[in-house]
Amino acid sequence: MHRDTVTATGADTRRRLPRTDVVLADPRLAGAAGRLGRTLVRSVVARTLERARRGEIPPEAVADAAAAALPGTAGGLRPVINATGVLLHTNLGRAPLSKAAREAMAAACGPTDVELDLATGTRSRRGASAVAALAEAVPPAEAAHVVNNGAAALVLAATALAAGKEIVVSRGEMVEIGDGFRLPDLLVSTGARLREVGTTNRTGAGDYAAAIGPGTGFVLKVHPSNFRVTGFTRSASVAELARLGVPVVADIGSGLLRPEPALPDEPDATGWLRAGASLVTASGDKLLGGPQCGLILGRADLVRRLSRHPLARALRVDKLTLAALEATVRGPATPVHAMLHADPRRLRTRAEDLAAELRGTGIDAHAADSEAAVGGGGAPGVTLPSAAVSLPGEYAARLRRGTPAVLGHVEDGRCLLDLRTVPEEQDADVADAVRRAGRAAGTGPDEGRG
Ligand SMILES: *Cc1c(COP(=O)(O)O)cnc(C)c1O
Repeated sequence: MHRDTVTATGADTRRRLPRTDVVLADPRLAGAAGRLGRTLVRSVVARTLERARRGEIPPEAVADAAAAALPGTAGGLRPVINATGVLLHTNLGRAPLSKAAREAMAAACGPTDVELDLATGTRSRRGASAVAALAEAVPPAEAAHVVNNGAAALVLAATALAAGKEIVVSRGEMVEIGDGFRLPDLLVSTGARLREVGTTNRTGAGDYAAAIGPGTGFVLKVHPSNFRVTGFTRSASVAELARLGVPVVADIGSGLLRPEPALPDEPDATGWLRAGASLVTASGDKLLGGPQCGLILGRADLVRRLSRHPLARALRVDKLTLAALEATVRGPATPVHAMLHADPRRLRTRAEDLAAELRGTGIDAHAADSEAAVGGGGAPGVTLPSAAVSLPGEYAARLRRGTPAVLGHVEDGRCLLDLRTVPEEQDADVADAVRRAGRAAGTGPDEGRG
């Protein structure tokens, strides 16, 4: 009897289910095909029909539900509001780009003069103006080159300067950078040999000096960017290494071009080049606040050896990266800079305003103190005082699945949305997202808890 009822309902649903071409003819879906492509719209419609077949939505709602399920773009990457309190979140693509960088990328999307001198009509050096911007921003750099990421910068340096030779490196600087990738493995993969010197906690200039010989390619100094060794420690400064008479390649990691007063322990390209490094390597999408890329700055002869090496072609960056990088270097302060320098009192006020607004719609929200971190392999151990909106723990998953997704973190059973990593102009979007999550949770205005 029960089974018959179910079957009858199923048959009834199937009879009332609209045909695919009828749904596709809905103006919203037909219009979206031009923007997103027919295949993508078709697959959204197919999935929505499947939901109706399973009884999750009524057959009459298929067109509405399909229109609502259309993605914002034809790409699969979805926008996320970073409320984790981690400024450079590797899983969220590290540095958010400035408006200036976004506009420069948009301008470079079509044909652009990335390798052409429009004044003379002849071929020019690829990305010359981005490279010039870097060199201008770092006065002691005679030349600069840009590759795909920080790891590529090291690989290129090792390949061009030390293949078949030795890279002298401290045992205290054999770093794993994340996701199981280790700098020593990366360097050895180029055909260079590692000459490890010193110990985990202590390495002095004398340890390097004793290891240097005719087989030395260069001395490598790596900033321990994602961990800290404290206690009985010693390391050789770049200035000491520069006196050893061989090239010094110094990996600063973070991409700071100049000293950053808020992070006094982070090295910067200008400082380490002034101290005598032959080359500095860094990432573009960490504290520099730009697109993913790897920066190589320093002595003109060495930069040229790297940029003319055959491998350089395999590591070269595209025009969009060059556009965003130049706008980051030349343009106004980046979002990363704004996060780093946000006033904790202002963050607290924003958290209180947001929480009060949400409480007004029946959501259990309050402002809470929080601690933000630089992240992305930068400034380990540094905490930045911050403020968060505290919500019931179950909001975390709902906010993560929303559009836009909002990513917080759960602490002591509460979902904390840290505002240091949220641009102030997105506060209203955060409030909207929490209200939507509240309705989904059944604790929001619709259910009227209060
Ligand atoms: C992040 C980092 C790298 C790797 O840079 P990617 O841009 O992620 O390839 C290398 N060295 C140091 C010191 C770093 O902090």
